Amino acid sequence: MSQRIAILPETITNKIAAGEVVERPASVIKELLENSLDAGATDISVEIAAGGRRLIRITDNGHGMSREDALLSLERHATSKIRTDSDLDGILTLGFRGEALPSIASVSRFRLATREAGNLEGTEIVVEGGRVRDVKACGMAPGTVITVEQLFFNTPARLKFLRSAETETGHVGDTVARVAVSRPDVALSLVSDGRELLRVQRSELRRRMAQAVGREAAGGLHEVAGSEGGITVNGFISGPSVVRSATSAMFTYINGRFVRDKVVQHAIMQAYRGVIDRGRYPVLALFIELPPGEVDVNVHPTKHEVRFRRQATVHDAIQTALEEVLRRSPWLTHRPEPEPAATAMPPTGQAYRERIAAAAQASLALPGRPARTSYPTSYAFADNKGAVQAAAALPPAASVSVREPAEPFQPDPVTAESMGYFSSLAIIGQFHGEYILCQSGAELVIIDQHAASERVAYQRLRRQFLAGGVESQRLLFPETLEFTFSEAALVVRFRDDLARIGFELEPFGGATVIASALPRVAAGNDGIRLVRDIVAELAALGTSAAFNDSIDGLLSRIACHSVVRGFHPLDSRQINELLQAMDETDFAASCPHGRPVSHTITLGELEKIFKRT
Ligand code: ADP
Ligand code: MG
Repeated sequence: MSQRIAILPETITNKIAAGEVVERPASVIKELLENSLDAGATDISVEIAAGGRRLIRITDNGHGMSREDALLSLERHATSKIRTDSDLDGILTLGFRGEALPSIASVSRFRLATREAGNLEGTEIVVEGGRVRDVKACGMAPGTVITVEQLFFNTPARLKFLRSAETETGHVGDTVARVAVSRPDVALSLVSDGRELLRVQRSELRRRMAQAVGREAAGGLHEVAGSEGGITVNGFISGPSVVRSATSAMFTYINGRFVRDKVVQHAIMQAYRGVIDRGRYPVLALFIELPPGEVDVNVHPTKHEVRFRRQATVHDAIQTALEEVLRRSPWLTHRPEPEPAATAMPPTGQAYRERIAAAAQASLALPGRPARTSYPTSYAFADNKGAVQAAAALPPAASVSVREPAEPFQPDPVTAESMGYFSSLAIIGQFHGEYILCQSGAELVIIDQHAASERVAYQRLRRQFLAGGVESQRLLFPETLEFTFSEAALVVRFRDDLARIGFELEPFGGATVIASALPRVAAGNDGIRLVRDIVAELAALGTSAAFNDSIDGLLSRIACHSVVRGFHPLDSRQINELLQAMDETDFAASCPHGRPVSHTITLGELEKIFKRT
């Protein structure tokens, strides 16, 4: 009789577990930092080389381990943090699965050195690919030092998925920053290839935030302190003057654990409805505390997701706490008319539960993708990127809906040969500072001046780009921008490409970037916002995409920033210039965002409206 089934040896099960917990150097660092915090450390230093691929070292001043515990800690499911089944329902530590150390040790050359304060000497254990090679006494300060070298040396498939050292360093930086924001009472440092990326002393939250999101952003933060139904919400949030193009400066924690949770994000964005534009995100650090039994953190091995027992209550508590602050603040006197009660009310009860279920489904369908939920209220996580990319995906010269001079359009026989269509229009005037009204034979032509200018700018940028590079303008005073570490890594990675589209961006230590030149067309407007948008656009590309694949999307972003929005009176010379430029443009009748540029109403249609027919 043949035997097909065997219980796997632990070296293999650990490697399998590592597949879930250890995705990249940043995930190793997240696990090790959590262990240091659980051990009561107040000073932690992180050192990496080659993005963490060659070396990760974490040194803490926590309570350390005895020799016996140190050996046990490397066994699977060995933990000091829970003992019984019921402990799982009230987890107060960051770790509890007892998987991280054996998993990491199974896919690296691993060294654990640890000493309890009461012991005269420490213990050093060397593990290679999951096999203990050496155990010996060592001299060291109380605490723990974990060294991980040659991560994934024995799992070539994983190794292939690692990105450039800059990209991995960026992820490590973000991970350390999330911990730094969550624990202002802990001193932290991060050194990468001998360069100090972050060093923070013990302090309080506002100072920490300034270090994580930049002083200029931290200046515009407002304190939140709310409590409802046993749920407390504390932290700092930004008003409308400090926004970002991505969710990267939203630090949200549940019981001290950094999470990217759909319920939390939705509640936040609901509170900001009408305060900030769509596609903009606040800067904030929000600490949501609830009784441990109310939240299940054992949903995913990396614990970035949680499950709430009472989702609607948590949602309402967050939204209410934020709205209280946002409503008190002066800018809200400009808030647009409140929406009708039916839609303005936060969703509650059954309806809300259904939405959450739908959202959960949506995210299940897209593992590892940013949430793209479909809440039917005014907020959707996806910004207009979809539209931009859809528009960008079209070959620029393709006549999507080019104004066909077929039946309704009867070109004026005199002008049509010498002039283009738009220049040949008889200008009636401007409507509402946003639209140009023209006549073309028996048609009323309405042009969205914003969409038209954007399209013109986009085509000019394309021409410049193809001819060697987008025209750039030096800034009199270079601007300093704070990014997240992974965003700053993108700037480094794409520096030369960004120069081709008019940006001169230089890394300036940590996650700071200096902008010294911008595309000329957009330099007069809010260029800093443009830089943020461009970097967010690059971040959304994912790591594998090539810069050139996204060029249309990027150029349309620049175009979008180059034009004046909203009410903007034009004189007849400016209108003529725009119409002429439209003719010179390889012009598809939609703006790069896919919105129509012009709309024609025929005499017949007008006659119908006035019941003349
Ligand atoms: P978990 O954190 O889920 O318990 P780990 O595999 O991450 O599992 O760690 C196993 C155990 O090793 C922990 O429960 C803890 O007792 C001990 N440990 C790990 N890192 C440290 C550290 N830096 N200082 C003290 N003890 C540690
Ligand atoms: Mg742990």
